[in-house]
Amino acid sequence: MATIIDGKALAARIRAELSGQVAELKTSGVIPGLAVVLVGEDPASKVYVSMKEKACADIGVFSAEYKLPAETSETELLELIEKLNHDSRIHGILVQLPLPKQINTDKVLESISPLKDVDGFHPYNIGRLMVGKPTFQPCTPYGVMVMLRECGMDLTGKEVVVVGRSNIVGKPVAMMCLQQNATVTICHSRTRDLAAKVRQADVLIAAVGVPEMIKGDWIKEGAIVIDVGVNRMADGKLVGDVEYTAASARAAAITPVPGGVGPMTITMLLHNTVVSAKQSGR
Ligand code: NDP
Repeated sequence: MATIIDGKALAARIRAELSGQVAELKTSGVIPGLAVVLVGEDPASKVYVSMKEKACADIGVFSAEYKLPAETSETELLELIEKLNHDSRIHGILVQLPLPKQINTDKVLESISPLKDVDGFHPYNIGRLMVGKPTFQPCTPYGVMVMLRECGMDLTGKEVVVVGRSNIVGKPVAMMCLQQNATVTICHSRTRDLAAKVRQADVLIAAVGVPEMIKGDWIKEGAIVIDVGVNRMADGKLVGDVEYTAASARAAAITPVPGGVGPMTITMLLHNTVVSAKQSGR
């Protein structure tokens, strides 16, 4: 039976360390600050934003919330970001996605100063990651890497299979594993014989968004399974992209959903914000 990789406990430990670092920064007059921008009324986004604000408060990070109406124009949003780029109280800017249709998401993400891009989505920071000189790393993939490190996993020469190729999870996590000398296969909706690919994986990272699409009997004996997927079922229950119980019987270690990658994502956001505050020195 697989060891459960407890993201909640790991996240709590890292947050306690960050809280100490925030207290230390405060003695030198620096209060780390995160601006959280929410446009519109998307219920899931509202939940994520309030979780992020609570996480900030818990470790002493100042958070400034900007709730804008759904009909906000792109120009108005860009003006706010420009203001935040120059606000010395703010070390990190987070624009909650998705944005309403009238706003060009790429344009908005590119308008955030790379020095305050604590989500790690700016092409500058993505480019740094590609060339192996990371600055701010996207939070979910970063959290996955911290979990793998915590398992004592040396990726050198290992077969890593990533299912999903989004800019926020699949692609960056694949790049991070490559950087750590893994042999990486990236799968997506057009991949042929996904089961055969997954069967090769010493480490499987699933980031698809389809409940339990990865079957337990596809998992190689002794593999490490990181399930990024979060899918809400009709009965309100959350499930991952991997058939958890069947996969647990074969894997050496597995992340649960919930309580796996989720808590790590916000933790790495806090980490990036604290790093940004340290770097700014004010
Ligand atoms: P996207 O929808 O942006 O990407 C999904 C990817 O899965 C795409 O690359 C898509 O392929 C691929 N895919 C879809 N169907 C299949 C299939 N049948 N076989 C193989 N690949 C398939 O999702 P995200 O990357 O944003 O998120 C993925 C999951 O992770 C979601 O459940 C999301 O909720 C969760 N998530 C969790 C976070 C956390 O903190 N725990 C944070 C971020 C996301 P193609 O490119 O060909 O369309």
